[in-house]
Amino acid sequence: MTVTIDARFINSWMSYAADALHDACPLLTELDAARGDADHGFNMDRGFRAISDAFTAAPPATADQALLTAAAVLRKTMGGTTGPLWATALRRIGKALGPTDPATPEQLAAAVQAAGDGVADIGEAREGDNTMLDAIYPAARALQARLNDGADLVTALAAAATAAEAGAQATAERAATKGRASYLGDRAIGRPDPGATSAALVIAALYDAARDDAGHPTPAGPDQG
Ligand code: ADP
Ligand code: MG
Repeated sequence: MTVTIDARFINSWMSYAADALHDACPLLTELDAARGDADHGFNMDRGFRAISDAFTAAPPATADQALLTAAAVLRKTMGGTTGPLWATALRRIGKALGPTDPATPEQLAAAVQAAGDGVADIGEAREGDNTMLDAIYPAARALQARLNDGADLVTALAAAATAAEAGAQATAERAATKGRASYLGDRAIGRPDPGATSAALVIAALYDAARDDAGHPTPAGPDQG
């Protein structure tokens, strides 16, 4: 029941993410219409679909190659603020996983943290500003904490997915201070930030890929592990 963090695993993660983002496209559009310019669903759907298509055309050899390719694809295909931010996030994950497959769960936890740090560097946002960081950082902390407690990777990623979802939901309580939604001030309160919502889906897809790889037969919710 172990998870092998290699090229095949990253391919599976991106495929789950593309499917989830496609399904969530109407929701993300609606959330971005309330807080921004209504292009976030389209941006994420298009970018992650393009990654999956690139992997189908040319299967990556290693996890880090997969992520560097994914980052390059996003830079070419994905618009909005989030295109370059997600490209940076995926590139940092690739670098943290390193050139030799398989990577360890500890490397994956460090990689999720590094993704957040990369986004924070480029976007000059912090946790609490109502951005994708409000899903990524809680996920990184939960993942590391559960691994420290001795949990297996599937269980730890389930906790990360739950933490990301909670972090995204918490953005609904606050006004944004970065990005387009910040122009709205308190008028954007009540619905979650679209970028945090989509980031939580990308983290949930990581859990899906791990559960799949470990051979868990039925899809459980993030809480069941
Ligand atoms: P745009 O805002 O250019 O239309 P998107 O709609 O694709 O781009 O993405 C909007 C999301 O981007 C927001 O919901 C927020 O989560 C995220 N975002 C905006 N500005 C920043 C930033 N400076 N740092 C991190 N994430 C940000
Ligand atoms: Mg937008």
